[in-house]
Amino acid sequence: MVVAIDGPAGAGKSTIAKKLAERLRFTYIDTGAMYRAVALWALRQNVSWDDMHRMEQLAIAAQIELSPGHIRLNGEDVTEAIRTPEVSNGASKVAVIPGVRRAMVAKQREMGERANVVMEGRDIGTVVFPDADVKIFLDANPQERVRRRLRDVRAQGENISEGQLAAEMKERDRRDSTRSDAPLAQAPDAVYLDSTPLSLDEVEETILKIVRSRVTNGKDFS
Ligand code: C5P
Repeated sequence: MVVAIDGPAGAGKSTIAKKLAERLRFTYIDTGAMYRAVALWALRQNVSWDDMHRMEQLAIAAQIELSPGHIRLNGEDVTEAIRTPEVSNGASKVAVIPGVRRAMVAKQREMGERANVVMEGRDIGTVVFPDADVKIFLDANPQERVRRRLRDVRAQGENISEGQLAAEMKERDRRDSTRSDAPLAQAPDAVYLDSTPLSLDEVEETILKIVRSRVTNGKDFS
């Protein structure tokens, strides 16, 4: 079973997807972390963002392992290293390259075929698993998304102003929504959920209700 959660940066996808996966006893897959890992490797290797061929090679060669709370790139734990603003921007630059996306989508499909998953990203319901059992498009208004992201990055010790973060998020959302290959978009059959006025528990309960209503084979996933 695949629960797909897509939406823009700061909408609350990771927090909710993690909680849902725990509750359902599914595997949580953060696909953004995978693009971030490729961007980190490219930064370390000084590969130019325009070098599509090298970027694709890196994406194919990257050994990415996701385990609860951790991501490893070629054996190294990069959980914290991928969370800097520099890597956030880089991730959305490597994510426009079709060859990079092909490599990531192949890895993601493999993961989704091995286990029941809650998978979050930008193109899960549209491209990676167009037949996902449940599709949610999680959104929140821009000010709220900046506020949430600011709290996260400051908790990680990053010293960034609200204005700078807002500008970076706006640019990243623009790049993610306008790229030609798999842009951020709501799948026609996804449920749109605006998390702005909702608590975390309310979002979780809303999605759980949707999951339960889609499970018709009598299994109790929660
Ligand atoms: O979700 P997160 O902010 O960690 O994603 C980082 C970047 O990776 C996004 O801005 C987007 O460019 C890219 N991404 C993507 N497709 C996904 C997940 C993330 O293009 N499924």
